[in-house]
Amino acid sequence: MTSPVMDMETLQASAVIDLDAIRDNVATLRATARTAEVMAVVKADAYSHGLVPVARAALRGGASRVGVAVLDEAFALRAAGITAPVFAWLAAPGAPYQRAIVEDIDLAAHSVGQLHEIAYAAACSGQVARVHLKVDTGMGRGGTAVDDWPALTLRARDLEAEGLLRVEGVWSHLACADEPGSTSIARQLTVFDEALAIAARNGLQPTVRHIANSAGTLSVPQSHYDLVRPGIAIYGVNPMPRELHASMPVLRPAMTLRAHLTQVKRVPAGTPVSYGHTYSTAANTTLAVVPLGYADGIPRSASGAGPVQVNGRRHTVTGRVCMDQFVVDVGNDDVVPGDEIVLFGPGDHGGPTAIDWADAAGTIAYEIFTRIGGRAVRVYTLTGDDDDGTHDDQGNHAGPEDCRR
Ligand SMILES: *Cc1c(COP(=O)(O)O)cnc(C)c1O
Repeated sequence: MTSPVMDMETLQASAVIDLDAIRDNVATLRATARTAEVMAVVKADAYSHGLVPVARAALRGGASRVGVAVLDEAFALRAAGITAPVFAWLAAPGAPYQRAIVEDIDLAAHSVGQLHEIAYAAACSGQVARVHLKVDTGMGRGGTAVDDWPALTLRARDLEAEGLLRVEGVWSHLACADEPGSTSIARQLTVFDEALAIAARNGLQPTVRHIANSAGTLSVPQSHYDLVRPGIAIYGVNPMPRELHASMPVLRPAMTLRAHLTQVKRVPAGTPVSYGHTYSTAANTTLAVVPLGYADGIPRSASGAGPVQVNGRRHTVTGRVCMDQFVVDVGNDDVVPGDEIVLFGPGDHGGPTAIDWADAAGTIAYEIFTRIGGRAVRVYTLTGDDDDGTHDDQGNHAGPEDCRR
């Protein structure tokens, strides 16, 4: 099989990342969000798609900010020369807030204690910290409990008056936006509006109010406010139920996970396959060995179920997924060692997708992506023909490109 990227014949397994798809998905989300800004969520190494190349592609697509969970991810973006606003929302007591303020990272705060830590770091750095206050509107995870919100906003107002911080944002997170008709969505938006009113009454003037994840961006226009925070959608996966996808904006999956068969052999009927002998061949058949396993992020729970495509034909993981490899019974298909096998990709030509793998493994596409790592080399493709100069990088101008991790 020929490979879509030059020079890849020597790679056993690779995750090919289509950065044009990322850019185009962000442009689609930006259009969907109408007047709201788009913050591209690139936490967890951009859902294993690669933090820095994805952040750049998202900014090219019209994102005006990037969002990450932890400060180290924010520092990595700055170290790579990304100057766009970066928001980091998950920090434990003792986090390096002073460095974050010096590096111009926007910080989240959910408690008076955390505000004081940030204010102290701001005083030490001689700069004003930019803060987004988080209210728990019904997710039941991070964020100030509504009962504590008035006190938090008053304290923030005082710290603003002292010149230590500026409350740029008020934000929250939706729990069930991917469940159409969930009554919790409207309830959370009502609580959010009440929290915004309290913040205003207590003297705060946040300019960036945000609550929408991908599902909110795609399906709840009232949740857009000033900014949306899509993650999974920028990677080309619609988190809404499958039956709704046809009526929604088209997104293109950016990651293709593929490998080259290491071995192919004919075996007789009744040949047991892989650990535990959970499968035996029904007839004379051909077994193909794939050099990817659970150490590379292939879920073991997809044993006997994960879909693959070899030479244009769909098959299924046969028997158990092992640490480094799995087997596929390809019947009487004509395959040879070195042939390409696709585990998931954009779904063109009947190929499997990450959603198919999620269904096979009893999980969600988010987990399929974020597990991918280990030995699967990442390869980037982009055409690079529409650089609008919004990024100041050292490459990504000419393509196709091949940056190996
Ligand atoms: C991960 C995350 C997002 C993005 O969620 P998606 O469902 O991937 O769009 C947005 N906001 C916060 C706070 C997150 O943790």
